Amino acid sequence: MRLFPATIAGSLPKPSWLAETEKLWAPWKLSGDDLEQAKRDAALIWLKIQEHADLDIVGDGEQFRVHFVHGFLEKIEGIDWNVKTKMGIRNNRYNVDVPTVTSAVRRPKSVHGEEIKFVRSQTEKPIKFTLPGPMTICDTIADKHYGRRSDMAMDFARALNEEARELEALGADVIQFDEPAFNVFMDDVNDWGISALEQAASGLACKTAVHICYGYGIEANNQWKETLGSEWRQYEEIFPALNKSKINQISLECAGSKVPMSLISLLTDKEILVGAINVASDRIESPEEVADILREATEYADKERIYACTNCGLAPLPRKLAEVKLVTLGQGAKLIRNEVSQG
Ligand code: ZN
Repeated sequence: MRLFPATIAGSLPKPSWLAETEKLWAPWKLSGDDLEQAKRDAALIWLKIQEHADLDIVGDGEQFRVHFVHGFLEKIEGIDWNVKTKMGIRNNRYNVDVPTVTSAVRRPKSVHGEEIKFVRSQTEKPIKFTLPGPMTICDTIADKHYGRRSDMAMDFARALNEEARELEALGADVIQFDEPAFNVFMDDVNDWGISALEQAASGLACKTAVHICYGYGIEANNQWKETLGSEWRQYEEIFPALNKSKINQISLECAGSKVPMSLISLLTDKEILVGAINVASDRIESPEEVADILREATEYADKERIYACTNCGLAPLPRKLAEVKLVTLGQGAKLIRNEVSQG
């Protein structure tokens, strides 16, 4: 792999013929076979756009799922989707009607197997597949069975691990677990969150990643960020334990955020996916700005361990804007790559 490989955190906007645009949890516009075909078409378009943007590791842009958490949960047993519970998630940052766990959770069959087979067949590039992390799942579902969040998390972790092993066998080069909850419940992360994450990733020979951000660029998140003060130091509380974990890559929010870049010096043993594209702004970054962030990262971590990435998923953005941001990401990575190889 060349220096500063470029990749995305995960989600990309759905085309307007597939789902309502610029919206999270957007309902599908089609059904049945038409829907299945349209999801594949959308994934294919995004694969080609990522290739043209010169990204090194590509993905399906989560075109097959309505939401990054519930795409996995839909095929898991033990969840009653008719028992909706109003829950304040991410420590009451937003209220959502969530489904309810009513018995032990179990994965009776493959969830994303067909999806990764399709992606694998459509690109020669290394592919990344994203799954929700156990802690974030537990913060996005109500519990009427386990009583303790950590117990529920370990059962979800076992189900995730079965899925991850299948995805690896079907050609995933990187499996990423999305854990935005890690930035909210830092004590729990150290008590059981990382153990659950390692359980989800256990036995995998492919690269494993965890994505920890400050959320999609939606109003509730933007308001929350206003309350976090002039320096966001949440990562500092979890990086020491993450650095000791078996996870290979840590995906972070750095662009336009108040996270001090120096915090990545705590991740001495990890590959670091530096978020260099802000997903909470309609402003298009310049390639130079992307390169600036990556250059700053090299002050605190070996350049061989730094990837160029987006802060988070781009799902809620207008499609055209997301396309341009991907191109900029690729151009920014190229700038710093050339600079370093000449220097
Ligand atoms: Zn994110």
